[in-house]
Amino acid sequence: MGRVKKISEVVDILKQKEQIRNIGIIAHVDHGKTTTSDSLLAAAGLLSPSLAGRALALDYLEEEQQRQMTIKAANVSLYYEADGKPYIINLIDTPGHVDFSGRVTRALRAIDGAIVVVDAVEGVMTQTETVIRQALGERVRPVLYINKIDRLVKELRLPPEKIQETLARIVREVNNLVEMYAEPEYREKWKVSFAENTVALGSSKDRWGFTVKQAQQKGIKFSDVIDAFSREDLEWLRQKVPLHEALLEMVISKHPPPHVAQRYRISKIWRGDLESEVGQAMLNCDENGPTVMAVTDVRVDPQAGVVATGRLFSGTITEGDSVILVGRNITGRVQQVGVYMGPARELVGTIPAGNIPAVLGINDVRAGDTLATVETIPFESLKYVSEPVVTIAVEPKYSRDLPKLVEFLNKLTIEDPTLVTVVRPETGEYLISGMGTLHLEIALTWIQKAGLEVVAGKPIILYRETVTTKGREFEGKSPNRHNRIYTRIEPLEPEIVELIRKGELFDEMDRKQVAKILREHGWDAEEARNVWQIDGRGNILVDATKGAQYLHESKMMIIGGWQRVMQEGPLAAENMRGVKAVLTQVELHEDPVHRGYAQIAPATWRSLYASVLSASPVLLEPVLKIEAKVSAEFMGAVTSTITSKRGRVLDVKQAEYVTVVVGEIPASETFDLSEAMRSATMGKAFWATEFSQWRPVPATLRDKVIQEIRKRKGLPLEVPTISQFVEEE
Ligand code: GDP
Repeated sequence: MGRVKKISEVVDILKQKEQIRNIGIIAHVDHGKTTTSDSLLAAAGLLSPSLAGRALALDYLEEEQQRQMTIKAANVSLYYEADGKPYIINLIDTPGHVDFSGRVTRALRAIDGAIVVVDAVEGVMTQTETVIRQALGERVRPVLYINKIDRLVKELRLPPEKIQETLARIVREVNNLVEMYAEPEYREKWKVSFAENTVALGSSKDRWGFTVKQAQQKGIKFSDVIDAFSREDLEWLRQKVPLHEALLEMVISKHPPPHVAQRYRISKIWRGDLESEVGQAMLNCDENGPTVMAVTDVRVDPQAGVVATGRLFSGTITEGDSVILVGRNITGRVQQVGVYMGPARELVGTIPAGNIPAVLGINDVRAGDTLATVETIPFESLKYVSEPVVTIAVEPKYSRDLPKLVEFLNKLTIEDPTLVTVVRPETGEYLISGMGTLHLEIALTWIQKAGLEVVAGKPIILYRETVTTKGREFEGKSPNRHNRIYTRIEPLEPEIVELIRKGELFDEMDRKQVAKILREHGWDAEEARNVWQIDGRGNILVDATKGAQYLHESKMMIIGGWQRVMQEGPLAAENMRGVKAVLTQVELHEDPVHRGYAQIAPATWRSLYASVLSASPVLLEPVLKIEAKVSAEFMGAVTSTITSKRGRVLDVKQAEYVTVVVGEIPASETFDLSEAMRSATMGKAFWATEFSQWRPVPATLRDKVIQEIRKRKGLPLEVPTISQFVEEE
């Protein structure tokens, strides 16, 4: 165990950029990401002497503990010596499953290389494709690790030629993806092959593995592996070809160190000016430049408080530094700076560019923030928008736990910004909203683990409202009838909604940039220039008035009226999405006394509600994508379960040893999906869902769903009509 190191020794290595690697492990669910991380940590995890002492006492390396650690740590650092030189490899946690929240991209931005883990039996699966595509999209170089070779030998009892064929096929499939998704200059360079030692094979469970080069160096052939299995002597394999050696040698020789990677990656992952001081400093991974750190993860540590972990692209971060949360008008003081040794944080005071520091003491920081010493372009708009689709009400079992619950819900949203919590003690509402029923189940487990007993209500689906045609222009009068606001509504182009969702178009953005993006997407220059507000749910308000008087003073009130409509659409008071509202004309009273908020906001929403109602409004429901893996005999059972739930089967892939059914199901039909799948397949199906898209509720169900929501919310059951908002001529 050469991994116990003094903190000062580690800090010395972290100053040598060529001895650092920042990597991640990416895989289809169940292909072995966790097991592989664990085996790397067990064999090469760094330990500080103090921790090592404690660790032994606590039996720190116990399997169970290790698992807990890997799951918990935002970063795990490994130590490995290659050709007598010490290296620190930061293994940054990439989210286990693909979600649509930006977390995956964020983690990928922090790494320069990825180990793609593929299950030898299942081969390349849909999420393998997704993660490879996403990694290449961030210019992260892949190497391949084919895991679970034991299954080919023991379970399937394949003869050596068959095994070779299987491996060759997986390599080919991965390279097809590189061919398809890499940019031209990396298409050939980043293909993987046994000959180039960019492919390893092995078993994470048994912790052995090798590349061709290592096999040659150690004089081991594949037949030796098969022999070891027939002798049941895995220990021999583990000793002869330990997995961490195979993987870490690949990483060190094939994945670039930070200063090399940043030369070609910054232009891809950052949208600022490369010629600027900040741009140059990042390109050069310059520790003397301005500090710029992309925060990938924020946790609340019971002892230490808010801990932000991320990639330091330039500058040096030091205790006492004052930093800006870019684009958010917040500054903070760095209280402590730590580095990861294994899964634990050790305080070091200062850390130079190219590394993964843990920064303590900045309470407002959120995952996705850019920390910097100068105002600059952030890595992502922090306003990346999560679109929660289910919500659940929770209540503490004992009212004395209330303050603890409120505090915990707060912590939950800091750690997982895709969870939205609403706390309204005055109405007794504690709502948690997330991406799907599973997401909420996980949140509830966390609450339980924190020792809080809660009673949870039934999950409620969150719908959206949108318009499908252009609406008419309507005049909205203020309650005092002294002000008139004219607006019209139309559908917002889907690609613009998508830009907003991805956080590439957001309200805090410079209006010139907004105008440029909108023009590039076909907007009229005049309208593009006059965007008043962008709503993260995917709506835009445009001012098309000409020379209107008092407009400036009333702007915030008009925006307020518009926000209410976007928050609560006319059909079911659900959020609106994909709506462009145009303010066409205003007639405002000259005396400010007669045009306060209570006048202008209602005039605005009356006009807007009327126009929405004239624009063929529809209710949208969240539809989830489902992917189920079964043996061929249960394929029929799975497809009929999907179709029985208003779902559709999109694709059935007959992989060599499993059948993969891909389909979609409206979220509202998924509450008892677990039971339905279990009984249909005798518990033999592995499946997962994720959000796919918003789709109109079918006409046959629409009225019923709207009525149900209105009833639940205590609204009049009838959907309002245009004449309730405006006087129709
Ligand atoms: P993840 O979802 O990608 O993190 O996958 P896990 O690491 O949790 O592994 C999924 C399952 O595959 C677990 O039951 C592991 O025990 C199992 N597994 C991992 N590596 C191997 C291996 O080398 N051989 C076999 N047979 N099973 C493995």
